Amino acid sequence: MMEQQAYSEPAFRDLQSTFAGELIDRTDDQYAESCALWNGMIKRSPALIARCSSTEDVAKAVRFAREQNLSVSVRGGGHSAAGKALVDDGIVIDLTRMRNVQVDPENRVARAQGGATWADFDASTHQHGLAVTGGLISSTGIGGLTLGGGFGWLMRSYGMSCDNLIGAEVVTASDDIIEVSEVERPELLWGLRGGGGNFGVVTRLDFRLHPVSTVLGGMIVHPIERAGEALRFYRQFNEDAPRALTVYAAMMTDPDGNRVLAFICCYNGDPDEGQKILAPLIEWGPPLAVDLNPVPYPALQSMLDEGFPPGLPVYWRGDFIDTLTDGVIDTLVEKFGEVTSPLSALVVEQFGGACQDFSPDHSAFGHRHADYNIAIISRWDYDSDPDSHVSWARGVHDAIRPHASGVYVNYVGVGESEDRIREAYGPETYDRLARLKSQYDPENVFQSNQNIKPAN
Ligand SMILES: Cc1cc2nc3c(=O)[nH]c(=O)nc-3n(C[C@H](O)[C@H](O)[C@H](O)COP(=O)(O)OP(=O)(O)OC[C@H]3O[C@@H](n4cnc5c(N)ncnc54)[C@H](O)[C@@H]3O)c2cc1C
Repeated sequence: MMEQQAYSEPAFRDLQSTFAGELIDRTDDQYAESCALWNGMIKRSPALIARCSSTEDVAKAVRFAREQNLSVSVRGGGHSAAGKALVDDGIVIDLTRMRNVQVDPENRVARAQGGATWADFDASTHQHGLAVTGGLISSTGIGGLTLGGGFGWLMRSYGMSCDNLIGAEVVTASDDIIEVSEVERPELLWGLRGGGGNFGVVTRLDFRLHPVSTVLGGMIVHPIERAGEALRFYRQFNEDAPRALTVYAAMMTDPDGNRVLAFICCYNGDPDEGQKILAPLIEWGPPLAVDLNPVPYPALQSMLDEGFPPGLPVYWRGDFIDTLTDGVIDTLVEKFGEVTSPLSALVVEQFGGACQDFSPDHSAFGHRHADYNIAIISRWDYDSDPDSHVSWARGVHDAIRPHASGVYVNYVGVGESEDRIREAYGPETYDRLARLKSQYDPENVFQSNQNIKPAN
């Protein structure tokens, strides 16, 4: 039986006649590759992929979607662990061709198209000795990451990515192209700083930059048997750590198949000074290995890429914890002992510092009080049975939940309930976002995201 077309052919031909990018449907050779996401567990079948080459293309695609009553998703870097970048039988507004980054070094501002990745962004700003907080894996999109918050090595120095967002260009649900800044539509800027992709397609993001060039970065590795002790020392060490230092602690399996606890470090300042500050952490143990070096910032930003290749199945969970109590440490150590795949990891992400400087009126991001975030990352090979890996991650999450104080919206994973999105913001911020949503997207056209429902 012929599949029913999701949109009218004459309307499609109209769109085609003025669309400068590519329109990819199920008959196209590029279709399968265009539907590949970082999380190989997600398989979706959109009716059409509109690979836009300009803001005008985006506006045309939004209009087409609205007139044809198609569901819409927006694709940036394609890293959403929940797979929100694709929508079944709808239209994907694909920004992967819109990756230009322009830097104004004098004013320390970067203006980046909505489909840029952190690799694109860091390469451009580094030429001027400037940077902003960005994700740890360089193929992650600046769009999804920033709109949800944006953790990275520089956040304790300068705040999250969203805290440094100072302007944007947005294509709204009514296909208007609007400018957003601290003076023009400031409430929308507030919402874009953490409220996710709920308010339109962000075709340009403007960031305030900071002087960053060489950082001290790398790892300190301990045997897993000492993970509990090492994490207790880490907690104590962090109490006096300067904002320039960010250390994540990961329980993982090394390339030789050994389970280890690795401290992954970035000191954003003079490397000699960093060595001195890190000395207690370097000396404790002693470690199995220390690999810490002065590196150009973009090199640190891609250091973990090899370990996070695209296409593997992933089941991701996360929670903020106010502090790293003995209970949390013991739970993490015990649960990592039951890990089902050498590709999986439990990561303690150090938060705090400048992230705690910004008021709830500055950005919609929900949880600033926490000192740590826990990432539960279950990954496995294609031919392995998913059930045991999914159930391991759920088990870790159930055990961490009683200690949790909130969730990071970008870590809300596959199949989590709507309550988790409310939890990510708290009732007051959620209601303010819902009012903003009803102003810019009353029909909830943009709902393939961590969705804020428009207020009535
Ligand atoms: C390997 C890996 C590493 C990660 N590391 C970090 C990290 O270090 N720090 C951190 O904070 N998070 C991290 N994350 C989480 C990451 O922030 C989110 O997955 C984020 O959604 C990825 O953005 P993207 O543009 O790549 O995703 P996509 O899957 O392309 O998009 C996700 C959603 O974001 C929205 N969106 C994206 N771009 C736009 C746009 N231009 N306009 C409007 N809406 C848009 C859409 O709603 C879309 O559905 C990581 C995720 C993975 C898988």
